[in-house]
Amino acid sequence: MTQGKKKPSAACASCEIPTHSRVCIFENGKGSKGCPTLLHDDILEEPRREYERPEIFEFARNASIQEGDGYADKSNNPFILEPTKTRIAEICEFARKMGYRKLGLAFCIGLAGEAAIVERIFINEGFEVVSVVCKAGRALKEELKINPEDYVMPPLKEPMCNPIYQARLLNAEKTQLNVVLGLCVGHDSLFFKYADAFTTVLAVKDRVTGHNPLAAIYLSASYYGKLLHKR
Ligand code: SF4
Repeated sequence: MTQGKKKPSAACASCEIPTHSRVCIFENGKGSKGCPTLLHDDILEEPRREYERPEIFEFARNASIQEGDGYADKSNNPFILEPTKTRIAEICEFARKMGYRKLGLAFCIGLAGEAAIVERIFINEGFEVVSVVCKAGRALKEELKINPEDYVMPPLKEPMCNPIYQARLLNAEKTQLNVVLGLCVGHDSLFFKYADAFTTVLAVKDRVTGHNPLAAIYLSASYYGKLLHKR
């Protein structure tokens, strides 16, 4: 590579190497154009040091163990993937592995029913739960200089979703692990940015597909074909 020439950007999503021959999985494998495994050793070192921090080490270690714990019959040869745990079961198991007792639940008002069930499940599993809805605090959309025509339900004086408040409230409660349930695109981003504790996601919001955004992806070769049409 000529000095000073910018390396091609990582493009793992369009990697042309079959999974069983990839360098990110097998020592003598190959990489595609822009392969970060082949081109970005320089960036690998800093994350490596980050994992050495005790708190990060323990979190990353247990996350990997949890990943492995999610499959049955791992000694079978050939190994055939057989996942056994739902995401909510995994969240509870992972939190227990980490020794966490106090969970934060940051949820969208559109999933209030689901949040009530999730809270019950966490309590049944022995956790203390602090839950906060997106509209808590009732700050108005006016504060964000949003015009009423951009409200969901004009002419209501509409409260905005307030993910920074959700995060700050859970920070004040010193939750040990936060769980996001259905926060909107962008509101979830703000929550992640302002939450002190690590955050995981139980479900993301998709108003059309029953909170299953991959439904649109799975149907992109058929009924959601418009997603792949160039505009
Ligand atoms: S790291 Fe390299 S080999 Fe692995 S998916 Fe990305 S481009 Fe392909």
